[in-house]
Amino acid sequence: MRSLYGKFLSFTTGIMLTSAVIAFLIVNTYYHQQLKGQNDAKNMHIALTIANYIESEEPADLAGYFDTQAASGYKIFVVNENREATMYGAPFRVENLRTVSVEQVLDGQQYHGMRDLKTETFMTGFFSDELANTVGVPFTYNGETYALFMRPNIKLLFTEVHYLLGGMVVVMAIVSLLSMLIVAKKLIEPITKLTAAAKKVGEEQFNGTLDIHRRDEIGQLAKSFQRMTEKLSENDRMRKEFISDVSHDFQSPLLNIKGYANLLMDSGLPEQERKSYAKVIQSETERLSSLTKQLLLLTSLDQLESPLKQVNFRLDEQIKEVVRKQRWLLEEKQMALVMELDEVAMTGDPAFLEKVWENLLSNALKYTETGGEIDIRLLDGTVDVKIIFQDNGAGIAKENLSRLFDRFYRVDHSRTQEVEGTGLGLSIVHQVVKLHGGSVEIASEVGVGTTFTVILPKL
Ligand code: ADP
Repeated sequence: MRSLYGKFLSFTTGIMLTSAVIAFLIVNTYYHQQLKGQNDAKNMHIALTIANYIESEEPADLAGYFDTQAASGYKIFVVNENREATMYGAPFRVENLRTVSVEQVLDGQQYHGMRDLKTETFMTGFFSDELANTVGVPFTYNGETYALFMRPNIKLLFTEVHYLLGGMVVVMAIVSLLSMLIVAKKLIEPITKLTAAAKKVGEEQFNGTLDIHRRDEIGQLAKSFQRMTEKLSENDRMRKEFISDVSHDFQSPLLNIKGYANLLMDSGLPEQERKSYAKVIQSETERLSSLTKQLLLLTSLDQLESPLKQVNFRLDEQIKEVVRKQRWLLEEKQMALVMELDEVAMTGDPAFLEKVWENLLSNALKYTETGGEIDIRLLDGTVDVKIIFQDNGAGIAKENLSRLFDRFYRVDHSRTQEVEGTGLGLSIVHQVVKLHGGSVEIASEVGVGTTFTVILPKL
């Protein structure tokens, strides 16, 4: 795998090299189109000035005059009529001047080697230290014809300032490359940390914290990742707790059934005891059955893929039907029931909503002493409907209210231990109401009673 850092490195170097090549090509074209001719013309002008000066002034010491010119930054090559050549200034690297060119100049023509030299494709020709890369002019001195070839001495032209500027460019290139490498490393560092953290999460280790404190996009990504990890960790904890609760809640009735079944095997058991043991087994099986049903209901609520099966139905009639089914229990506990139901037709999933009323009514029955009172009200509003289940039973302490909707949560087990329950009923109530876009409010006081108010929006 090519790392992001490697990619950044190759991209940067690639961009730098490409821009250098493009810049070189542009400058090169400019050199060939413009500079080459201009340079030739400029040097030709200087050569002609020198030739004119010699011809008009006839300096006594010709060699001395050429030496002075050479010292001011030129390489000079002079050929006389006898084809004897003299060099002034530093020697040429390549002495490739063709005889025909010399002859042409001695014949009175000009030589434009700097303009016409074809061998150099690139602008390096500008610096090419060859005898052919010169300009040539004829001149006469003391009645004799000479050919003068010359070009600037590049070495002399390169002053300290040029070296300083060149050095500056090199240092800038190195510094910018190095700083880009450091910046890239700093940018990529948090991504490496995120990758390591994601790997840990993948291995179900949710305890690590991300040491990334940045305000940019990577910082935001790290924050979201941290939140996601916390949520996953919470879900993982809940899942484990749920499994352990489920196992525990299945374990105790199973143990009871096993124990009482063993006792029933005793053939000499009196009829009275046999009946009571069979009753325990029956009630424990019912408990297991209701636990399984509630768990299945909760799972189906959790995994609800398709939307609720919403239909329009009469809510007041549904509540009346639920009460009718549990009337025998109300009578058994000699409970007084007050029902005030507005006629309400609403849209919702009746199968799930029925479970809500069943749970609220059975709780009111379970947690209210014999002879107590239960009030059920259905209030039709403009935007929502309120369904109120009020009892004058045991009540719930304030500190326990916040956990009532947690799965398997049961208040004060020592007090309610005789009361059958799974701790799943209110979770179901909460989940169904939430799916309908509603809410559940609880008002309760220990020893006074409890009021559950379900608020459902009218669609
Ligand atoms: P359970 O199966 O124990 O009834 P629920 O989820 O229905 O489980 O209720 C959770 C707990 O809330 C119960 O254990 C009970 O302590 C308390 N509770 C629920 N409804 C009432 C009520 N009407 N009066 C007093 N306590 C209640």
